[in-house]
Amino acid sequence: MKRIVRRDFLKGTAAVGTTAAMTPRMSWAQPADKAASGGYATLPTRGEFLIRSAYVLTMDDKLGDVPNGDIHVRNGAIVAVGKGIQAPGAKIIDGKDMIALPGLVETHWHMWGTAASNTAGDDPKMGYFSFAKAVGAIFKPEDNARGVRLAIAEAINSGLTTVHNWSHNLVTPEFADAELQAHRSMGHRALFGYGYFGIGMQNQTANIGDLGRVNERWIKPSEGLLTLGVCSRGPENNNIDLCKTEWDAARKMGLHISTHIGTSMARMKEKQPVKQLNDAGLLGPDVILVHDTNTIEGDTDILARTKTNISFSPFTEMRTGFGIPPMGELSKAGVPLSLSVDTTVLAGNCDMFAIMKAILNVGDGEAKNEFAMPARKALEMGTMGGARALGLADKIGSLTPGKRADIILVRTTDLNMAPFTDPVHMVIQSANPSNVDMVMIDGRVMKRGGQLIGVDTARIVRDANDTAMRVRAEAERINRT
Ligand SMILES: [Zn+2]
Repeated sequence: MKRIVRRDFLKGTAAVGTTAAMTPRMSWAQPADKAASGGYATLPTRGEFLIRSAYVLTMDDKLGDVPNGDIHVRNGAIVAVGKGIQAPGAKIIDGKDMIALPGLVETHWHMWGTAASNTAGDDPKMGYFSFAKAVGAIFKPEDNARGVRLAIAEAINSGLTTVHNWSHNLVTPEFADAELQAHRSMGHRALFGYGYFGIGMQNQTANIGDLGRVNERWIKPSEGLLTLGVCSRGPENNNIDLCKTEWDAARKMGLHISTHIGTSMARMKEKQPVKQLNDAGLLGPDVILVHDTNTIEGDTDILARTKTNISFSPFTEMRTGFGIPPMGELSKAGVPLSLSVDTTVLAGNCDMFAIMKAILNVGDGEAKNEFAMPARKALEMGTMGGARALGLADKIGSLTPGKRADIILVRTTDLNMAPFTDPVHMVIQSANPSNVDMVMIDGRVMKRGGQLIGVDTARIVRDANDTAMRVRAEAERINRT
C-alpha cells in the first residue's frame, strides 16, 4: 500500500484518487465530477480493473465466447479479453457465476416522457398521441430533465449502457440544455438526437440552427460519452424539401439522422416515405428509421441496398397497434436491425432483456417456426446492431480490446436464471434487470453487487413523481375539455 501511495504522490493529484480508492466507502464512488452533477450523481473515477472468471460473451466475431474468461480494463478502455490474464495492481472484480457481456444498446427512446410513464390510458381521449401532445405542452425544461435523469438511472440499473435520446419535445434551446445537463451529470453514454419543437405538428424542421451551439457546449466536452444526431418529422409529416434541409445540416456535421416511418399501412401507401427518401438520396448507413411495421413492395430491397438502419420497439409497436415488427422479412433481406425502448409512457420500463426476448418471440411467432430466429440474433441486435446504427461500432457493442469499457455482469445463480445451461438463451429468455450485478460505463463502475453507485435514486424518483402528478392533472383537464 505504501509503495502505491508514494508512486502516486509523485503524480500529484492522481494520489488523491488512488489513496481515497483504498478506503472501502470510497472504493467505487470517487467524487470526480460532483460540480457537474447537480447533486444527482457522483461519478466514480475510471481505474484499472480485472474482471475474473466470467463466462464472457464478447459479441466479437473473432473472439467468440470465452468460458471462464477475464477482461482487463484500464482508464476506460478494454485492454485484453481472454483466459488467465495477469494484471498486477488492477482491482479484481469476481466474475464467477456471472455472464459478462457488452453493455446493452438501444436506438430510439423519447426519454423526456419517462416522467410521465404509464400515462397512456385505455380510453381514446387518454391514448398515447393525444396524451403525449398534451403532456408535452405542459412540460418545462426541468420536467424534461427529470424524465431524462429517471430514464438514465433505470437504464444503468438495467445494464442498458447506451441510448439514443430521441428528443422531440425541445420547445426552446433551454429544453435541450436541460436534457444534456442531465446526461452529463449521470455519466451515461448517449446519442442525443436533436429533434423538433413538440409532438403533433407538420412541415417544420428540427431546430438545426442550434446544432453548432449544442455541439460546442455539451458534446465536445463530454469525453466521448455524448454524440449528436438529428431527429426529423420525416416525409410522413414534412415535405421532402424540408427533410433535405435537415439531412444536409446533419450530414455537413457528420451526424446520424432518424425519423419515424411506416406506423400505418394507409399512410405508407399514401406517402411512400421510403421511396421518397430514396429518390432524394437521403437513405444510408447514417440513417435510423424507426418502426417500419407496415412494409410496402420494394421498400425492403431499398433499405437493404442502402444499408439503412431499422429500429424495432416491439412492445410499443404492438401496444399502439402499429403492428408486428416484420422481423423475418427485413432480417432475410439483410437490413441492419436494432432495438429500442421508444417510450415508457407506453412500454412502462426500459428492460432491454425483455425487448430482446420479445423480438425473438416475434421472429419465431410470425414465421410459425420454432427455429426461425436464433437467440444470438436478438442479442446481436441489442449490442452490436445498436452500436452500428448509432455510428458507435468502433467504440462499443462488443468486448473487443481497444473499445471503450461498457461491460455488464449478469448473475447466473438467481432463481430465475438457474440452472447454468446455455448462456445466450439465459440472457435472452431468463434475465431481467434484477440479475444485473455490475455495470461499467466507459470504465466507471456504476452498479456493483446489484446496487447503483453514487446515484441519488430517491431524489430522482421524488422529482419524477412531482412532475408526473402536476402534468397528469393538467393534461387530463386539457384532454377532457
Ligand atoms: Zn418514437
